[in-house]
Amino acid sequence: MNERVGTVIVGAGFAGIAAALALKAAGDDDFVILERAEAVGGTWRDNTYPGVACDVPAHLYGLSSHPWPGWSRTFAPGAEIRAYLEHVVAQEGLERHLRLSTAMVSASVARSSGLDAHAHDVEWEVRAVSTRFARSTNEGSGRPTNEGSGGSTNEGSGRSTNEGSGGSTNEGSGGPTHEGSGGPTHEGGFLARNLILAAGRLTEPLIPAIPGLDEFPGPVFHSARWDASIRVQNARIAVVGTGASAIQLAPELARQGAHVTLFQRTPAWIVPRRDRAYARAEREAWQRDPGSLARLREELYVEGEARFASRSGDPVAASEARESALTHLARQVRDPVLRDALTPDYAFGCKRVLLSDDFYPAIASGLVDLVPSALAGASDNQLVAADGSRHEVDVVVLATGFEAARQPYARLVTGEHGRTLDEHWSEGMTSVGSTLVSGFPNLYVLNGPNASLGHNSAVLIMEEQAAFAASLISRGTPIRVDPEAEAAYTAEIADRAAGTPWVEGGCRNWYTDPRSGRLTLLWPGTVSDFRSRLAAVRGSMLAPVLTP
Ligand SMILES: Cc1cc2nc3c(=O)[nH]c(=O)nc-3n(C[C@H](O)[C@H](O)[C@H](O)COP(=O)(O)OP(=O)(O)OC[C@H]3O[C@@H](n4cnc5c(N)ncnc54)[C@H](O)[C@@H]3O)c2cc1C
Repeated sequence: MNERVGTVIVGAGFAGIAAALALKAAGDDDFVILERAEAVGGTWRDNTYPGVACDVPAHLYGLSSHPWPGWSRTFAPGAEIRAYLEHVVAQEGLERHLRLSTAMVSASVARSSGLDAHAHDVEWEVRAVSTRFARSTNEGSGRPTNEGSGGSTNEGSGRSTNEGSGGSTNEGSGGPTHEGSGGPTHEGGFLARNLILAAGRLTEPLIPAIPGLDEFPGPVFHSARWDASIRVQNARIAVVGTGASAIQLAPELARQGAHVTLFQRTPAWIVPRRDRAYARAEREAWQRDPGSLARLREELYVEGEARFASRSGDPVAASEARESALTHLARQVRDPVLRDALTPDYAFGCKRVLLSDDFYPAIASGLVDLVPSALAGASDNQLVAADGSRHEVDVVVLATGFEAARQPYARLVTGEHGRTLDEHWSEGMTSVGSTLVSGFPNLYVLNGPNASLGHNSAVLIMEEQAAFAASLISRGTPIRVDPEAEAAYTAEIADRAAGTPWVEGGCRNWYTDPRSGRLTLLWPGTVSDFRSRLAAVRGSMLAPVLTP
């Protein structure tokens, strides 16, 4: 039996919650949020590895409508961000819209009966199944060991398993704690006028095919599926990768007494992080004076926007930022051989620039043993690097990133012409306004095509998209974009991307699609550019566009 509803939102991470808040702000209460895991939080529910934290200041990473004076540090621990999202859901009464442990398994739009764009002829049929008793909703996604829906290690207990990771739940600040998100599950289907895909982009672990790793005798798991049963102290732990997760994880494991061996295929550009704990007095002052909190957010926003120049290849800004990164490295690593191994040979900004104050010292002090070579194979409990060196370890953590270019949700969604989103995106994601897709009326994709940032908070973009979607939904008329508009937007992105480090910087990154080499994930502008671009799309859509 299908339930009729105005809008189905898929996913209860930052984007899904932002979409729900935007609909509510527009006076629309007629929506459900499907979430395949047992709790809300998305990224921050799934990533519980020691040391996990945001790398954009928390005061800018939160939702603009829900400033939070109680963040414990500049870069809040993951458990705190998760608790914050749960708090927002409770505060806004979103539980009654939530269908937890409920995965969208397909969504198809009824074929259009004609070309009358004013007709209310768009109807999405969304099929959902309960994941409560399923072994995993991620089967086939390459998750090696940790089975369980949604990958949370916090299930049921309502407590973070990251004790000792520096995570705090705002003790003393009156902050949110994990209370569970409530909400019923749902099995069956929905008939909805609108579909908002907020199903994430860094949700599916990318597992490299390493010969022999399947037979490794000890635990092998991805950093986003942290195995909380692992005893870290005195364990010999291999961390594979040097991306954002690895550089948080490796020093923290070493601090907790593990012997860490880090396999580095490509060194990252790393700049100082300057994280610090906020004093109670500061937090209380923000609590008392919301204006000061708003000013702090504005300052952080402006700082973030200013980083765009260095990340996008502006010669002066990039050269200054590069020098600052090299100085950081030289100050923290004296050994010229190690320093050389840690120096990137590609353009600044080509890959996500990382922030850390403890990664280089952990390597320089020998607490983390750097193998400046990719992991190439495994034999018994020995890992073999591409340079031939062998390393005996007990546990392997694959901090190898995510399948970002080709999202699994795209295979589940079928448009007006009987093609899936995955087929439509066979050479990489495309859109109009990074949100709308031709042939998929009344569909809004959040944090999907060209909506990521390398210089500022991702939440800023998601909130813009959520407000954009809510405003188009409130019109009540079908929203379609034509293929020409999509081709023009795709060409515009390619123009903006030309000559930038993201496509010409000499590295492999997840911003581009390996099938076409096009920049399909990153938005190649500032947040303010994005805001203006969406306003232009909204303006151009005052007369609905016909689907040819
Ligand atoms: C370790 C880590 C640190 C990060 N740090 C930062 C940072 O500091 N700053 C920053 O800007 N960005 C950061 N990011 C990027 C981060 O992913 C985004 O900022 C943001 O959290 C993504 O929100 P989202 O709602 O789009 O996706 P997610 O948080 O991934 O949420 C998507 C949700 O959709 C659900 N879902 C997926 N498919 C289905 C389905 N078929 N049916 C039902 N539910 C489904 C998933 O279970 C998930 O809960 C980080 C990412 C990682 C992995």
